Amino acid sequence: MTPPRNSNAARDIANVLHPYTDARAHQKNGPLVITRGEGVRVFDEQGNAYIETVAGLWCASLGFDNERLVQAALKQMRQLPFYHAFTGRSHEPAIDLAEMLIERAPVPMSKVFFCNSGSEANDTAVKMIWYFNNAIGRPEKKKIIARIKGYHGVTVASASLTGLPYNHKLFDLPIQGILHAGTPHYYHCALPGESEDQFTTRLANELEEMIVREGPETVAAFFAEPIMGAGGVIVPPAGYFEKIQAVLRRHDVLFVADEVICGFGRTGSYWGSQTFNMQPDILTCAKALSSSFLPISAVMVNDRVFQGLADGSAGLGTFGHGYTYSGHPVPAAVAVETLKIYDEMDLVGHVRKVGPVMQEGLRRRFSDHPLVGEIRGVGMIGAVEFVSNKETRANFDPAVKIGPRLVKIAEGHGLIMRALPGDGIAFSPPLIITAEEVNDMLDRFGRALDDLTVQLR
Ligand code: PLP
Repeated sequence: MTPPRNSNAARDIANVLHPYTDARAHQKNGPLVITRGEGVRVFDEQGNAYIETVAGLWCASLGFDNERLVQAALKQMRQLPFYHAFTGRSHEPAIDLAEMLIERAPVPMSKVFFCNSGSEANDTAVKMIWYFNNAIGRPEKKKIIARIKGYHGVTVASASLTGLPYNHKLFDLPIQGILHAGTPHYYHCALPGESEDQFTTRLANELEEMIVREGPETVAAFFAEPIMGAGGVIVPPAGYFEKIQAVLRRHDVLFVADEVICGFGRTGSYWGSQTFNMQPDILTCAKALSSSFLPISAVMVNDRVFQGLADGSAGLGTFGHGYTYSGHPVPAAVAVETLKIYDEMDLVGHVRKVGPVMQEGLRRRFSDHPLVGEIRGVGMIGAVEFVSNKETRANFDPAVKIGPRLVKIAEGHGLIMRALPGDGIAFSPPLIITAEEVNDMLDRFGRALDDLTVQLR
């Protein structure tokens, strides 16, 4: 149906090129225009309410309204709406936020570098690693290993780290020197008869073989999300990261934890690194850092990395990297207030209480459903994966578009959902969600799943 002239939908179709959207289909289908938010819900132009089952993009952890964050932004806008951090300039919001992040870091960290998005944070980490190795006299040690199905963003280097085909095809990516190791997805990637322990040992061995094949003197770093988010909500089996880190230590390969989704309570610890026993040298975070009210991200580096960067910058007279908005005072002030709210509400405690309601509810209600293969997740992040055959674990023919179909049906039941690669549907609601709201979300999902089952008959 063609939207009325001058409607938001018509003006959107006429003018906006959307991220992560089939631009041709969008010309026909048009946008879902969201006008306001309240708690875990957002509302469209017709006033329909939707529970945001993925907190927008895994990010609005305090939901879609929060007066304290509004006031923090206003106050900072009035006092100092902009200042930068180049050439040693500074301001209190960035200082406060850096100090709070260092205090909360999962392992001892030395310094914080601010950026505006998860992609920028990961690009910055890549550049820091190259700079570090040049500065300490190891110019050969530059290759970076990420993982198939890992998601690290869309800028040139971070899209190269991302291990998903649609982030590479037609873009001429990945760039040189980026490698992808195997995915720790036991359900799909284990060999017949392989135990979880054997599976993780094999993945670690394969990583080591890759490093040795490339030459350890050429491999600089390994990037990993604690739980792979956008690649499918893939939870690593117990022991995986311990074995991977032993390999990295043997070959002096830096470990970067991409905490852009898992940071700030999502997995039931403050950091995903704590849930999965990761000891990163560099940590990137974004999204829930400001509850996504304003864009801000951060890269934390340990002292060893900082010392290398400091030496390099002393040699050149500057660290030649930084964004106009690195540590922008308004998002920084909002992030400071966000972290205070997390402490006051005991966010981690809340996720530990309500996360199991979601995890157990998903498993209890949907495990036996004929379309459901695997249900996975930890804390307040989960996924339901559809299969066409429970025994062979085969996914559906892509032409069936099972995920997008369910997403469309779910809209009619008051849910905004997100389809994942590999026929999955994500659950990553605002962390403030209550047990009652979780049950409401799962009731609605159940009704959508019933409709989908009828449609597929
Ligand atoms: N890293 C992870 C784990 C992410 O999930 C994302 C975004 O979803 C990014 C990086 C990129 O962040 P941004 O979209 O803010 O550039």
